[in-house]
Amino acid sequence: MYCPFCGHVETKVTDSRLAAEGRQIRRRRECLSCGERFTTFETAELLMPQVVKSDRTRQPFDEAKLRASMRKALQKRPVGEDALDESVGRIGHKLRGLGEREVPSRTIGELVMEELRHLDEVAYVRFASVYRSFQDVDAFRDEIDSLRRRRRRDDPTGQLSFLEYADDKAAGRTGKK
Ligand SMILES: [Zn+2]
Repeated sequence: MYCPFCGHVETKVTDSRLAAEGRQIRRRRECLSCGERFTTFETAELLMPQVVKSDRTRQPFDEAKLRASMRKALQKRPVGEDALDESVGRIGHKLRGLGEREVPSRTIGELVMEELRHLDEVAYVRFASVYRSFQDVDAFRDEIDSLRRRRRRDDPTGQLSFLEYADDKAAGRTGKK
């Protein structure tokens, strides 16, 4: 970096050490032109974006909350904590990768659904039905249909029985309306 005193382009590092229990590198630098000394700190930037909810309020991204809602969807499903951890990690990674300071909560919901779709289809449908609240029964049926098409294409021995059940339920809901 340029010398903050005279703006010269060349400085040399005279000392470099770990600080903040290894979360920081502290460097002593000396300007090759004016000889002034200064310190720089290097830290990893792990800032998560703020989450903008549908009512426009903001709140910090809460990994524990995300994990809890995914765990709830995965209740009694054959998916271990390690797989859940990896999923949560991927979601965090993707969120940081967006490079945005704020993301709509909808974006997080979509990322969760993407992960659950790969982890476990039952959990996916559970989460999606709560998340999208499926006020529109047609949207729910579209979701089931697209899952069924995907399942038929990828693995015909999948979880069709659950999908049939979900479809019946959706039909039942239509009947009541
Ligand atoms: Zn200087």
